[in-house]
Amino acid sequence: YCKQGSRNSYRFFNPEMQLRSVRQVQMENALRKALEREQLRLFYQPQISLTTGKVVGIEALIRWQHPEFGLVSPMEFIPLAEESGLILPIGEWVLVTAIQQMKNWLDQGIAPMTIAVNLSAVQLREKNIAQIVRQLLEEANLPAEYLELELTETAAMSEPEKAIELLDELHSLGVSIAIDDFGTGYSSFAYLTRFKINKLKIDQSFVRRIGTHTEAEVIIDSIISLTQSLNLKTVAEGVETEEHLNFLREKGCGEVQGYYFSKPKPAEEIENWLREYIK
Ligand code: C2E
Ligand code: MG
Ligand code: MG
Ligand code: MG
Repeated sequence: YCKQGSRNSYRFFNPEMQLRSVRQVQMENALRKALEREQLRLFYQPQISLTTGKVVGIEALIRWQHPEFGLVSPMEFIPLAEESGLILPIGEWVLVTAIQQMKNWLDQGIAPMTIAVNLSAVQLREKNIAQIVRQLLEEANLPAEYLELELTETAAMSEPEKAIELLDELHSLGVSIAIDDFGTGYSSFAYLTRFKINKLKIDQSFVRRIGTHTEAEVIIDSIISLTQSLNLKTVAEGVETEEHLNFLREKGCGEVQGYYFSKPKPAEEIENWLREYIK
C-alpha cells in the first residue's frame, strides 16, 4: 500500500490496478494529441425500418486508431475524454464530421435517411450546445431534419429540468432526439412526457436475451407499448439473429439496428453496403 496525504488514509494497489492506471494516464496524454494527429475515425451503422424494409438512419460511432494501443473502443476512451474535458473538442469533431458526411451522401442522392450522433452528458452541460449544433448545420448547409442526436437515458435524467430546456431548444432547431440505452436508467414517466423526443432506443442488453430470458422479452414488449402510447419511434439495438428480428417484428418494433444487418463500418464501406442493400 502507499500512504496518502492525510493521516490514516491509505490506498491499496494491486499490480493490476497500477498497470491499469498507468495505461489510463498514457491514454489520456495520447488522447490530447489524437485530434491533431487525425487518429479519430467515424464508423457508420444502418438502422432499418421493419415496416418498409428501408434504411431510415445511420448512426455515427467514433473509433480511435492509435499506433501503439491499436483500435481503441469508445467504451474505454470516452470516459477518459469526459473526465479530462477533451470530450468537448472531440464531440464537436464528431458533429462536424458526421454532418459533412451526411451532406455528402445527400448530394450523392443516397436515399433519404438521418444521421444519428451520440452526445455525451458533458456536452449537454455545455451552455451553448444548441447554438453549436445550429451553426454547424448552417455551415454545412444541411437541413436540420437530417440530424438526430442521441443522449442516454442516464444523461437525460441526471439533470432533467436542464434536459427539458435543452431538448426544447434542439427541437425548435428541427433536429430529432433519441434516448439511447433505454431501459437501463431510471426514467420518470412524468419527465418522459415533458422531454421533446422522437425515439427510444431499446438497449441491446434486453435484445441479447430474446429467446432465453422472459423478463427481457417482457421489458421490450412494455417499451414498445410505451413508445406507441407516447407516439414515439422505437429502435432496437444489438439485433444479431433472425430470432431477435422475428420477435421484434411480432411485437411491433418500428426499427432495428445490429450486426444482423451490418456492423459499424467506415464511410466508403457503408456506401457499398447501402448500394448492395438497395438493389
Ligand atoms: P451506443 O451509442 O449505444 O452504440 C451501440 C453500440 O453497440 C456500438 O458500440 C455498436 O458498435 C454496438 N453494436 C451495434 N450492433 C451490435 C450488435 O448487433 N451486437 C453487439 N454486440 N454490439 C452491437 P461502440 O461503437 O463500441 O460504441 C459504444 C458506446 O460508445 C456507444 O453506445 C456510445 O455510448 C459511445 N459512443 C460511440 N461513439 C460516440 C461518440 O461519437 N460520442 C459519444 N459521446 N459517445 C460515443
Ligand atoms: Mg447511440
Ligand atoms: Mg445504445
Ligand atoms: Mg451504450
